Amino acid sequence: MHTITNVTCPFCGCLCDDLDVVVDGDRIVEVKNACVLGKDTFLHHRKGLAEPRINGRSASSEECLAEAARILAGARYPLIYGLASTESRAHRKAVELADLIGANIDHCSSVCHGPTAQGIQTVGAPTCTLGEVKNRADLVIFWGCNPAEAHPRHPSRYSVSARGLFTPQGKKDRTVIHVDVRRTPSTRMADAFLQIKPNADYEVLSALRALLKGQALDVSEVGGVSVEEWQGLLEMIKGSKFGILYWGMGLTMTRGKYLNVVALLLLAQELNQFTKFLSAPMRGHGNVVGMATVLTWQTGYPFGVNLSRGYPRYNPGEFTVVDLLARREVDAALIIASDPVAHLPAQAAGHLKAIPLIAIDPKESETTRIAQVVIPTAQAGISAPGIAYRMDHVPLPLKKVVDSPYPSDAEVLTQLIGRIRTKKSGSHV
Ligand code: SF4
Repeated sequence: MHTITNVTCPFCGCLCDDLDVVVDGDRIVEVKNACVLGKDTFLHHRKGLAEPRINGRSASSEECLAEAARILAGARYPLIYGLASTESRAHRKAVELADLIGANIDHCSSVCHGPTAQGIQTVGAPTCTLGEVKNRADLVIFWGCNPAEAHPRHPSRYSVSARGLFTPQGKKDRTVIHVDVRRTPSTRMADAFLQIKPNADYEVLSALRALLKGQALDVSEVGGVSVEEWQGLLEMIKGSKFGILYWGMGLTMTRGKYLNVVALLLLAQELNQFTKFLSAPMRGHGNVVGMATVLTWQTGYPFGVNLSRGYPRYNPGEFTVVDLLARREVDAALIIASDPVAHLPAQAAGHLKAIPLIAIDPKESETTRIAQVVIPTAQAGISAPGIAYRMDHVPLPLKKVVDSPYPSDAEVLTQLIGRIRTKKSGSHV
């Protein structure tokens, strides 16, 4: 039995890198410092492991790779999707494969923080690392997000009770505000809760910008909250030394979408005339930021990229996963470390059942259950090492703590690329 220290948890965008994992042979027997989600990720990593198969029948890894290569090499308009729960060497290989076969490549941002990327492209973002928040923030606003359940250690490591250089008393040195359409477990850690009406975010953010500029509003409430309370929030922000506004899918996936993010980012920028004020999205999957980062440095665009013309094109709504599937445009799909059949709208998921589908995943899922080809892999951050990007874009190493009988996602993609190159050059595999 031995303990591996400073292990990074690959589950959520916090990527807590202070875990101690106790290993006995090839079993993980204890995980220290992780939250309940992180513990479950490590302790149950062997539950529901995927098996290699073709059309529901057991097959060797070689046969699965050959069949996957045949499908992808013959596809006219394929889709590569997923990738938020793997490491960034796999991301590089996925982009290389998309380039080789002229695919659309998209990832989970498309259905969570795609509007965040569009908002930042439009007006830029005043932002900072989680370390700066821990050490300096005396005012923290959570807007349309629920860290207590989605990122359980975010408050204790960085944003609420964390003790930093200029926040030595932790929570006592911070004021925490929660803005949302309903109370959640995160409300309990806030000093004040502002309950707004559903889909009122753009209206509220625009009103805050107007009030900040000294303009009078001819209404008594905005979004269900009185103008006095909004004015009070602005005074509180102006009186802070270092404020940060975190937003979640309660902002990006409600009416207004990327325009909500634009309004929020402009407000954050304008608040810097009065105090230091920053903003950041609460990113969900462990390495969804890594995929956006790699795709951006490889193609110039963060999600929804089409490579069918031999050069990258970007158009959310055209080359994004839900749209491609709902319009039944793609004729084959490769899903990596993701479960779109369980999570996409039924119309989009339905098309995945109608086309050749390849799933590369350590675990069984709704997607592997209907896939024509299933290729199991070693789980990134548990049985395969690599790099992942924390929600604040800080890259962190993922460790391998136990062995897997299967190769990593990057190794499988490398083999697929080799086989398809050989096919395209006219040789037999
Ligand atoms: S907060 Fe996220 S990264 Fe940290 S231990 Fe929990 S699930 Fe893992």
